Amino acid sequence: MLRNKPRPRPRRLDLAPGDTVLVVAGKDRGKTGEILRTLPREGKVVVKGVNILKRHVKAGRRAGGNTAMQGGIVDFEAPLDRSNVMLLCPSCNRPTRIKHIVLENGERALQCRRCGEPYERPRRVEAQ
Ligand SMILES: [Zn+2]
Repeated sequence: MLRNKPRPRPRRLDLAPGDTVLVVAGKDRGKTGEILRTLPREGKVVVKGVNILKRHVKAGRRAGGNTAMQGGIVDFEAPLDRSNVMLLCPSCNRPTRIKHIVLENGERALQCRRCGEPYERPRRVEAQ
């Protein structure tokens, strides 16, 4: 039986929910916000307060649970392409690219390319 067969995997996103990013393209260019969700398969992220679209919702439709939704216009954040955002480094507070480093104990970490500070990601379990 074949094991460890390499599986085609989408490129890992450097971004994770909880990260603060700067939007560098599109109508919301210049805005900063926190990442709410990542869509690694599409290479997209959802940023709080950015790329707001309005969805017209019909009253009475059920949203997953058992509470019927009120009708009307609902604002929601649409996913942005990952290439349209840049991570904001919490140490130097500037948009940066990040470098992947491997620590002595074999763990992976991220490092800011500008100030060299290790980037401590707020650990959060992805609910996907
Ligand atoms: Zn930095």
